[in-house]
This record gives sequence, structure tokens and C-alpha cells, in this order.
Amino acid sequence: MENLTDNLARVRERVRRAAERAGRSPEEVTIVAVTKGVDAPTVQAALELGVADIGENRVQEARAKFPELVFPPGARRHMIGHLQSNKVRHALQLFDMIHSLDRPSLGEALSRRATALGVEVPVLVQVNVAGEATKHGVAPERVLDFVREMAKLPGLRIEGLMTMAPFAEDPETVRPVFRRLRELRDQVAEADIQGVHMHCLSMGMTNDFEVAVEEGSTMVRIGTALFGKRTP
Ligand SMILES: *Cc1c(COP(=O)(O)O)cnc(C)c1O
Repeated sequence: MENLTDNLARVRERVRRAAERAGRSPEEVTIVAVTKGVDAPTVQAALELGVADIGENRVQEARAKFPELVFPPGARRHMIGHLQSNKVRHALQLFDMIHSLDRPSLGEALSRRATALGVEVPVLVQVNVAGEATKHGVAPERVLDFVREMAKLPGLRIEGLMTMAPFAEDPETVRPVFRRLRELRDQVAEADIQGVHMHCLSMGMTNDFEVAVEEGSTMVRIGTALFGKRTP
């Protein structure tokens, strides 16, 4: 746990400095601790150190792990990975926010389930900014239309955009990816679509979160820098 304490302090400090370089308040940036491959006692330790946001990328893993955890009041659970439509029911029980709305059929499935449960699920639209074949996400030029379409569905509350940048040795290389996501967010916000509040930008991981914060990220998703390298 000593490591975790130090790692968390370091990540917080790096977020703070990146925010300050950009003239932003560090409070605008939420650190989502990505706990895939991390055992329950270690996740519990993170929660006890004041980490309020936990991110998992698989429903199966969350189903196994979350019941072993005591989430303090105000803790939020984020689904950050690709979500299959047949896992939507479980996802809505397990998570407070879905970062990976990437296709109409998923939006429809989420809407149907959320409506049946009488809840509204906060979602982010995942954007494949770099157009990588291996990544999920809506194409940048489709984002505005996609948001308009999804905004019509009851039970969904669109709160922003999410992206995964391509891996790069030098994070400066992916700065344009983050900048583009912010511009897309601004463009959607300007369209002033009813029920859409574009206040979240989920971008930045261990390798590139400082650049993402400089470009306006409000949620960095950090695994390795907190928990070390894990086998996926
Ligand atoms: C694993 C994962 C992360 C965290 O990656 P690290 O490089 O370990 O910080 C962030 N976002 C998503 C979608 C992930 O799957």
C-alpha cells in the first residue's frame, strides 16, 4: 500500500501541475482509478486513500469484484471499456456512468433498460479521433449527428465525450487528438441540443494524461501509474 500512497500523491501532483500550466483549476480534473486486473483489497485501499472514482473495462470483472468492496458515500463507478448490448442490464446495476457509448444499438439498449428501471444513465460518447481500426468509437465527423440521435432516447443523459489516444512514446504526438476532442465537445455544446450537457471530457491515461489535462480533460483514467503494470 505504501506504493499506492506514493503513486497517488505523484499522480495528483502531476495533474495539479498540468492544470496550472493550462491556467485551469486542478479541481476540474477527476482522477478515475482504473482497476482492471487489480485485486479487491487493493481497490479497497485506494478507496480508503480517498479515490472516489473507480473505472473498470469489463462487466464480468466488475461483477466479480464490486460485491467485495465497500464503496464510501459519493464514490462513483465508471464503465470505461467496450460494452456489449447483452451486458447492459448488469452494467446499469454496476456502474454510475458509461464512458463508451459508441453505436446506436447500444444507445437503444441502454435507453430501454434505463427506462424500465426508471433511471437516467449518464453516458459519454466514445470518439475514435485518430480513426484507428483497432479502436471503438464514433468517427469525429459523425459525432454531432450521433449526439442528436441519442439525445432523443429517454433514459440517457449525455454528459460529454471520451477518447483513447493512440499509444505514443512521446505524448506530445497525441496532443492534436485531445485538442480535437475538446473542439468536438465545444461544437456539440454550441449546438445546444435539448437535454445534452457537455461538461465531461474523459481523456488521458498513464502515458499521456498531462497533455490531456493541458488540453481540457475533466477525467483522466489512470491504471498503471497508480497500480503498476498488470496482466490484462
Ligand atoms: C486500461 C485503460 C485505461 C488505463 O490505462 P493505463 O495506461 O494503465 O493508465 C484507461 N482507459 C481505458 C479505456 C482502459 O481500458
